[in-house]
Amino acid sequence: MKKIGIYPGTFDPITNGHLDIIERGYGLFDKLYIAIAQNINKKTLFTIEERLEMIKGVTAHLPHVEVVACIDRLTVDFAEEIGAQTILRGLRAVTDFEYEFQIATTNKALKPHIETVFLTTSAKNMYLSSSTVKEVARFGGDVEAFVDADVKQALLEKF
Ligand code: ADP
Repeated sequence: MKKIGIYPGTFDPITNGHLDIIERGYGLFDKLYIAIAQNINKKTLFTIEERLEMIKGVTAHLPHVEVVACIDRLTVDFAEEIGAQTILRGLRAVTDFEYEFQIATTNKALKPHIETVFLTTSAKNMYLSSSTVKEVARFGGDVEAFVDADVKQALLEKF
């Protein structure tokens, strides 16, 4: 059986922290879907289409990655539809834990056969988040160390 994974997230925008999880998770699956999710609690800077293009660009070197949008449905339903057995998520400092634990437990209750696996962040990305990157970019700071060059350019155009 093919091992199919799904890495859902808001990716507004995709950072080097996300990319690190994708590159390390890549080897665990025959196919890895990156699903841009709609998070009703987050107002996004980039549209779904913009995020889709950015993620495609930064994962172009990974042939078994497919970038998709997951709109108006639950991640677990979407996972089932595309045949994914595993949800991949990244864990940073302790603050992520409570939130991630909640989602994983809820998903498990909804679809017991779908497992969530976590990869812990690389130390250098421990405090890297899309929100911080947007804040730095908004006030003219250099985000070079945090995102891909095309994402940096997209941020410059937004602000
Ligand atoms: P969501 O709104 O679903 O939390 P995000 O785009 O913020 O979407 O994050 C998607 C996933 O990537 C989450 O599991 C998050 O913890 C993880 N993640 C975000 N930033 C990093 C990072 N710097 N290192 C490791 N994992 C990260």
